Amino acid sequence: MVPFNNQGSPSRPDNQSPATAFQMAESTIWMDGVLTPYGQSQIHVLSHSLHYGSAAFEGIRAYKTSSGKPAIFRARDHVERLFRSMAILGGSVPYSVDQVIAAIGDVIKANHLDECYIRPIAYFGPEVKGLKLPLASSMKLAIAVWPWGKYLGDGSANKGIRVKIASFRRPEVGSSLPWAKLSGNYLNSIMARREATLAQVDEAILLDQQGFVAEGSGENIFVVANKKILTPFACNVLQGITRESVIEIASKLGYSVSEALISRNQLYDADEVFFTGTAAEITPIGEVDGRLIRGGVVGPITKEILKVFEGAIRGTSDEWEEWLSYV
Ligand code: PMP
Repeated sequence: MVPFNNQGSPSRPDNQSPATAFQMAESTIWMDGVLTPYGQSQIHVLSHSLHYGSAAFEGIRAYKTSSGKPAIFRARDHVERLFRSMAILGGSVPYSVDQVIAAIGDVIKANHLDECYIRPIAYFGPEVKGLKLPLASSMKLAIAVWPWGKYLGDGSANKGIRVKIASFRRPEVGSSLPWAKLSGNYLNSIMARREATLAQVDEAILLDQQGFVAEGSGENIFVVANKKILTPFACNVLQGITRESVIEIASKLGYSVSEALISRNQLYDADEVFFTGTAAEITPIGEVDGRLIRGGVVGPITKEILKVFEGAIRGTSDEWEEWLSYV
């Protein structure tokens, strides 16, 4: 049975797959309170968000936990970020955080999934034709779910992924909104990711305008050197919820974790490098610009953090239970 996977990345092992093969075309999408068949989940072609990138969205995961029930990982943090993204743009989502969390639970149940990726998107309808930001009355919310294997591969065979530094950089922070997960922001990520694809590597790293490391096209990044863990300052990058979780886990494990300016030199010279993100989870990096990191194999500190993270998302440890919202 092959679960749906539109990135070509390996799917989860069978024991974590849904009981029956998931067909996206037969799925149900929550659209402003209505559970709508996939084929009918349409938006207006004059949607302001389609034309100008004015949508806010989230990427969330639900995992099958050790109790057998699915749980959404850090649901409230994600939904609050959706609201903040829209507020940074100047709009507001016409629901409460609790209503959106409940709707996510409903759409997971309606699709009979015990493990999935969750994509809420708040977007504007067709009422405003120019660049003026539409009113909240024009806003719509949709929530789709689908099973999705680890976005950049499952890290099998103890190998890290191959990445390259893109020529596209994160936009100058005085003219961009990196904390907001807005669809328009992602053109820059698409350009960087395309360079990686053309170079036949797995992912791109973007530098900031000063030339320091910022993040992946859809992930935050961590560097381990001399048993100390560093990650770029949050000002230029998305404030990742996985990033925050890893900072907490690594600190609890006794590691020194700090935000820092990280040069490309430090990347090439690192003991370990890994990405974090909801879709990518924790993805070890084995090669940057043709230079092997630790011979390309997954490092011990990455492994240690990964193990605790796996326990947290699967509910096997009470310590991180507050991160889970059971469906
Ligand atoms: N940076 C970017 C640009 C992203 O798109 C993502 C994915 N949301 C992340 C970082 C990681 O954020 P999170 O851990 O909250 O998914």
